[in-house]
Amino acid sequence: MTGNELRKKFLQFFASKDHLVLPSASLIPENDPTLLLIGAGMAPFKPFFTGKMKPPHPRIATCQKCVRTGDIENVGRTARHHTFFEMLGNFSFGDYFKREAITWSWEFITEHLNLPKDKLWITIHTEDDEAFEIWHKEVGVPVDRIVRLEDNFWEIGPGPCGPCSEIHIDLGEERGCGKPDCRVGCSCDRYLEIWNLVFTQYDRDEEGNYTPLAKKNIDTGAGLERIASVLQNKRSNFETDLLFPIIEHTAKVAGVTYGESAKTDVSLKVIADHGRSLTIMIADGVLPSNEGRGYVLRRILRRAVRHGRLLGIDKPFLADIVDVVANIFAEPYPEINDKKAYIKKVVQLEEERFNATLAQGMELLNSHIRVLKESGKTVLDGATGFKLYDTFGFPWELTQEILAEHDMELDRAGFDQAMDEQRQRARAARQENEERVVVPDLSGLVTQELKYDPQAESARVVLVLQ
Ligand code: ATP
Ligand code: MG
Ligand code: MG
Ligand code: MG
Repeated sequence: MTGNELRKKFLQFFASKDHLVLPSASLIPENDPTLLLIGAGMAPFKPFFTGKMKPPHPRIATCQKCVRTGDIENVGRTARHHTFFEMLGNFSFGDYFKREAITWSWEFITEHLNLPKDKLWITIHTEDDEAFEIWHKEVGVPVDRIVRLEDNFWEIGPGPCGPCSEIHIDLGEERGCGKPDCRVGCSCDRYLEIWNLVFTQYDRDEEGNYTPLAKKNIDTGAGLERIASVLQNKRSNFETDLLFPIIEHTAKVAGVTYGESAKTDVSLKVIADHGRSLTIMIADGVLPSNEGRGYVLRRILRRAVRHGRLLGIDKPFLADIVDVVANIFAEPYPEINDKKAYIKKVVQLEEERFNATLAQGMELLNSHIRVLKESGKTVLDGATGFKLYDTFGFPWELTQEILAEHDMELDRAGFDQAMDEQRQRARAARQENEERVVVPDLSGLVTQELKYDPQAESARVVLVLQ
C-alpha cells in the first residue's frame, strides 16, 4: 500500500464513521502566538477543544503536516523520527469518547490494514481502568499485552488534558537493542509506536486541580510514515515511498550507495528528511531568517547542506531535491508544484549564501577542535561560537552538533553573552548614525515619503506606494 493510498484509506474510514474530512492546515499556526509551527494534528483545533469556538462538525478527521524540531537529533539515527511528518488523526469535540476511539482504531488497523493482532501492544495510563476494560473485554487484547504506564497522561499547562493510550507494534527481537529490559516504551526500534489516543476528560486549573469535563474530547494521532513502513515491510520510514525517492536521488548525486555505510546512510536520511521539511515550510510561507520559524528553516536547511558536504557533494544540490519532494507530494499537496519555482529560488539563495562561508567556517572550527584536543579541553569558548554564527552563518546548534561528534561542547552562556554584546553594539551604532538612513533597494516602487524615527530601535522608512 502506498503512502497516498494509506492516507486516503484512513480518511475514508473515518468519513464512514461520520467524520468531516478537512485538508491539512498550514504549518504556520493561525492566531496562536504560543506556537512556532504545527507539531500535531490537534494543534489547529485548539479553540474547539477549549470550547472557545464551535467546530463545523463534532467529528473531524485530517492528515496534518507537522514539524517537530525536538526530534531533529533523532533523524536518521532512529528508524522512525522526522522533523517533517504527516499525522493522521480523528477528533471528537464533546461527541464520542473512549469506547469508539479505541474500537475504531483497532478496527482500522486490524481489519482494513490487516496488521497482525498478536504483534500489537497497548499502553494505557496507570489508573485508566475504563480503557483497560475496553481494550481487554471488548476488543479482546490479552492482559499481558496491555501495559500500564505513569507517563501516559497528556497535558500542556492548564486546560483540557487526560490519559492516553498508545498502540505499538512489535517488529521482532532482531530490531531491538537487545538489552534485558527492552520492552514497550524502550527508545530502540523494536516496539514501534504507531498511534496515540488521547482522552481529554479533565480540565486542569492554574493550581493543578483536575475537574472532569462536561464535554469530553478525543484527540488521536498516528504517524503516516511509520504505518507505511510496516505495511511496505521496510526497515525504516526512510525506505517507504514517502521518502526513498529522495534518498535514491541524493545517493546518485553523491555517488554513494544506500545501505553501504552507516555514516553515509545517516547523511542520506537527514537530507531526505530535511528536504521534505524545508520544501513544505517554504511552500507554507516560511522564509529563512535569524528568528522564530525562519530560524528553524535556516537551521534545517544549513544542516542539510552540511550533510551534503559530508557525502562529498560540493555543488548546490538542494533545489533539485525540491523537485523530488514536489513529485512525492503531487497528489496530496499540489500547491508545492504550483510554487516550485519560488521554493527553488529561496532554497538556492540560502544555499549559495551558506556555501560561501561553510568551508571557511569549518576550517576555523576544525582548527579550534584540534587545539582543544591537544590541550585536553572539551569546551569551545562562546566568542568563537559566536564568530561562527555571525561571520560564517553557523546556527549555534550546528556548531554544537559538530562539537558533539568530537565529545566536545559549546559554552552556551558565553555564546549568549557574545550575542548580547553584539546587539548592544549594533544599537549604539544605530544611535550614532541617527541621520544616515539607508534606503533599501526599492526598484519598481515609488517612494513619496521617508520618515525616520530616531527613538525607534531601527530606522523606519514609511513608503507610500503608487
Ligand atoms: P515517540 O515516542 O516515538 O517519539 P511520541 O509519543 O512523541 O512518539 P506523539 O506525540 O504521541 O508521538 O504523536 C502521535 C504519533 O505521531 C506517534 O504515535 C507517531 O506515530 C507519530 N510521530 C510522532 N513524532 C514523530 C516524528 N518525529 N516523526 C514521525 N512520526 C512521529
Ligand atoms: Mg516523541
Ligand atoms: Mg511516545
Ligand atoms: Mg505518543
